Amino acid sequence: IQSKLPNVGTTIFTVMSQMASEYNAINLSQGFPDFPVSEKLIDLVYQNMQIGHNQYAPMPGLPQLREAIAAKIKNTGGIKLNTETEITVSAGATEAIFSSVLATVNQGDEVIVLEPAYDCYIPAIELAGGKVIPVGLNLADFKPDWQKIQDKITEKTRMIIINFPHNPSGAILTETDVAALKKILEENPQLLILSDEVYEHIIFDGNTNLSVLKDEFLASRSIAVSSFGKTFHATGWKIGYMVAPETIMKEIRKVHQYNCFSVHTPSQFAMAEYLQNEQTYLGVSSMYERKREFFQEAMQKSKFKVIPSYGTYFQLLDFSEVSDMDDMEFAQYLIKEKGVASIPVSAFYSDRQDNKLLRFCFAKGEETLQKAADILCKI
Ligand code: PMP
Ligand code: GLN
Repeated sequence: IQSKLPNVGTTIFTVMSQMASEYNAINLSQGFPDFPVSEKLIDLVYQNMQIGHNQYAPMPGLPQLREAIAAKIKNTGGIKLNTETEITVSAGATEAIFSSVLATVNQGDEVIVLEPAYDCYIPAIELAGGKVIPVGLNLADFKPDWQKIQDKITEKTRMIIINFPHNPSGAILTETDVAALKKILEENPQLLILSDEVYEHIIFDGNTNLSVLKDEFLASRSIAVSSFGKTFHATGWKIGYMVAPETIMKEIRKVHQYNCFSVHTPSQFAMAEYLQNEQTYLGVSSMYERKREFFQEAMQKSKFKVIPSYGTYFQLLDFSEVSDMDDMEFAQYLIKEKGVASIPVSAFYSDRQDNKLLRFCFAKGEETLQKAADILCKI
């Protein structure tokens, strides 16, 4: 058959995790936590299975979960949402992103992607028949250069995909960024924002996520996506949600209905109850902040340069003082020869731009982080 995605191979996260396991390396590559999910949450899933909540949930998600999501958004400074029409529970953020792009991007539409970018955006745009317009984030701090973005906007630009806190850099938005984004939307009425906020509850130094859902105007032009896999360190559960204005959500649900239909019912009952206690999500940042501190501290004596991480569970390390290899070669060398796995950041660029950066996931126990840091400090 003729490939619809000729440039797509196996995702870098699978490739590096497989290699880590083949060489028995400490796996700080693919982003997933190595500590357990809350027992309370597991009990809730189990109880809901036992009492018979095992058949299809409603297509847009369990009403009580949509209520709990709306309450969480309100609680964290967001707008009041219509739970009937504006929230849909999805099979992780991946499905939410896929369904949103397929529903809103038409043949020939241009979609601006800020690179380095998480790898599921471009294939979705291409399958929808859209044209990817990559725009680099500033190399110094991984923040958007709004003028550069503005310069790429044409009458065909349908969407800008943003992702803050940012994978892989940990950059976050400021009020100035939000103002610039609003100005762009005001000047370009055809534009939508797809805001990938999966790390919204992993943000440090007293900052809070500047969600597009905190502003009526931005929310009226945005699709926001989140993931309980990230928030509750249960990446294997594949449960998340998307929020969009009714007219847009109506179209997205047409895709979600046939792409997925509905999401694991007992998990939805469990999440709805678990979310009643706001500490379940408000306490996540401090747990990861301690891990960030621990890893950064442990890397102090190394020749790697620690790039500031303001959110997510990722840490970028600049290895330009350590090796002349390109980032893919160096990542492979670290796995094979040193026993530590990471992700080469060039994989997040459509042109494989190599900035001598590797991404390390610090969602791990301290012993594991210490072991990895000890190895890296000796290089
Ligand atoms: N967006 C970003 C930026 C991510 O890092 C991830 C997780 N790998 C996803 C989306 C996908 O989230 P989920 O696992 O809930 O599908
Ligand atoms: N989001 C995870 C990461 O950035 C990977 C998810 C996946 O493997 N698809 O590492």
